[in-house]
Amino acid sequence: MSKIRFFLTEFDDFELAYFSKFKLPTYMKVTQSKIKEYLAERNLNKSKIDKLISENPKSKLDDKKIRCPRCYSDKIRVNSVAWTTTGGGIGIADEVATWDGVEERVTYKNEIICDVCDFWLEDPNQEKPLSTSKKVIYGMWDIIIGIFRN
Ligand SMILES: [Zn+2]
Repeated sequence: MSKIRFFLTEFDDFELAYFSKFKLPTYMKVTQSKIKEYLAERNLNKSKIDKLISENPKSKLDDKKIRCPRCYSDKIRVNSVAWTTTGGGIGIADEVATWDGVEERVTYKNEIICDVCDFWLEDPNQEKPLSTSKKVIYGMWDIIIGIFRN
C-alpha cells in the first residue's frame, strides 16, 4: 500500500471530502490520480463531496479538542519551528547580536496546520504559500506604484 493511501485510510468520509476539495490540488499530478482512484473506491464523487461538506455534522461538536475551523477535523499537525520574524525592527541589541555572531535569539513557536484540508491555524513565520489571488493583488500594486513613480 502506498504512503498516501495509508494516510487516507485514516480519514472518514467527511475528512476525505475536505481533503479532496482543498488539499488534493496541491499534490503532483501522479499522486493526484492515485488519490482520485482511492476516492472512487470509497464512492466519493464530486456531488457527494459537496454534499458531505455542506452537511458536516462535526461543525456542531462541542468538545475540548483543537479542531480545524474549516473542516472541524482534529487531525491537526503541530510543528515546532524556529521563529525568525523579528518584531520591532533593528535595535541596538540586534546590532550587537550581529557583531559577535554568537547570540542568536531564536525562539520556538508552533506552526499549526490541518492535516486534512491544509488550513493554517498558526503561521508564526508566514510561510504559508500565498494564494493566487493575493499574488495577483500584489502584482497589481507593483504596477500601480510603478505608474506613480514614472
Ligand atoms: Zn481542516
